[in-house]
Amino acid sequence: MDSLHSLIGNAQPVLWENAQRLSNHEIASGLSLGLADMHSAQDRFLRFAPLLANLFPELVSTAGQIESDLLPAPHMQAAIDFPVECGRLWIKADHTLPVAGSIKARGGFHEVLEFAENLAMKSGLIQASEDYRALNSPEVRNLFSNYEVAVGSTGNLGLSIGVMAAALGFKAVVHMSADAKEWKKERLRKRGVQVIEHVGDYEKAVSAGRAMAAQNPNAYFVDDERSLSLFLGYAASAIHFKEQLREYGLVVDAEHPLIVYIPCGVGGAPSGIAWGLNQIFGRNVYCYFAEPTQSPCFLVQMLAGDGEHPSVYDFGLHNRTEADGLAVPRASLLAAQAMRNIVAGVYTVDDQTMFDDLARLHRSEGLDIEPSAAAGFAGPLWLKGGPLCIPGANHIVWTTGGSLVPESEFNSFLQRASIG
Ligand SMILES: *Cc1c(COP(=O)(O)O)cnc(C)c1O
Repeated sequence: MDSLHSLIGNAQPVLWENAQRLSNHEIASGLSLGLADMHSAQDRFLRFAPLLANLFPELVSTAGQIESDLLPAPHMQAAIDFPVECGRLWIKADHTLPVAGSIKARGGFHEVLEFAENLAMKSGLIQASEDYRALNSPEVRNLFSNYEVAVGSTGNLGLSIGVMAAALGFKAVVHMSADAKEWKKERLRKRGVQVIEHVGDYEKAVSAGRAMAAQNPNAYFVDDERSLSLFLGYAASAIHFKEQLREYGLVVDAEHPLIVYIPCGVGGAPSGIAWGLNQIFGRNVYCYFAEPTQSPCFLVQMLAGDGEHPSVYDFGLHNRTEADGLAVPRASLLAAQAMRNIVAGVYTVDDQTMFDDLARLHRSEGLDIEPSAAAGFAGPLWLKGGPLCIPGANHIVWTTGGSLVPESEFNSFLQRASIG
């Protein structure tokens, strides 16, 4: 244990495996949520789909559905030297999620839609059985314009909440941490979202946003560190994902374990997804979280005792990383509690490896992602030679963001790769 702590403190890549992972998923969740809650989040997305297709031209072709492909990745599997004897490599392409360009489309959109729905219902302006395109009326938009939706973010959550809230007619305020990329702020300002810049880290931006929203009775704060609505929006991804496995004829059982690698910031997105997959597939799904070597907040939370809430600064780390989506110093306690008996493990990745894997994916599969999203690809190699390295296994790397990254920015990522 001591040596693991010192490796973490020295920003060395490590793998931690969760000895408390339970094999019985019925008792594995620390939350009083179940399948029904996941389905009600999914139903909410479906109710809103026709409205979303009206609000966003890029959603017309999917009739308002916000989903991503599951893609075989044989060329990337060769590029990372992951032997087929260990199973097959796949990509769950959330970097292409429309409108937001990242996994935050799932949780972030869900929470804004839930808030809008509750508000419209309370005001008697809509009923659940109605066509939600009615929410695009002057009357409803006038109601919404009296409310502010606020959030604190390193970038992508702000992008998702800000764009959706503004599109529905809310005032939108995004508190951005110092890590946030300029182009993400610019994109929001162009859509009429107020961007408040903070010199501090993610945690500071969140607490400033929370405090400012608390002073405004008409402000609704999306709390990335505590939100169940975000969590369920992420979890709902498991429903469509299950269909995708079926379409490829993939089964999940002891001979065909499903191993999922998800980049982790505060922990909400990966935990929601891991929890959702666990609800559906039970003991034969293994979720590993990927964190930057400088920002392993979820890992240090998993190592901490009850009642402790350590930050990566306590380990002497500086929390600076090009993986801006993952630059979080302290984990969500909600996410940590949910994952205590579910997460299979957590591993850390240095920035150079993320740039290299980003370049490998660009060359091998022609997919362009952001550095945060590349963190997943270091995972399979940690399992080489272990019990999950079997020919029937399916390894899913969840690529969490990047399709909206400007070309010049993407080229500068490519230039930082060290592979020839
Ligand atoms: C936010 C984000 C994550 C992780 O989500 P958390 O809820 O912060 O753990 C992973 N990848 C990208 C690209 C993100 O924007």
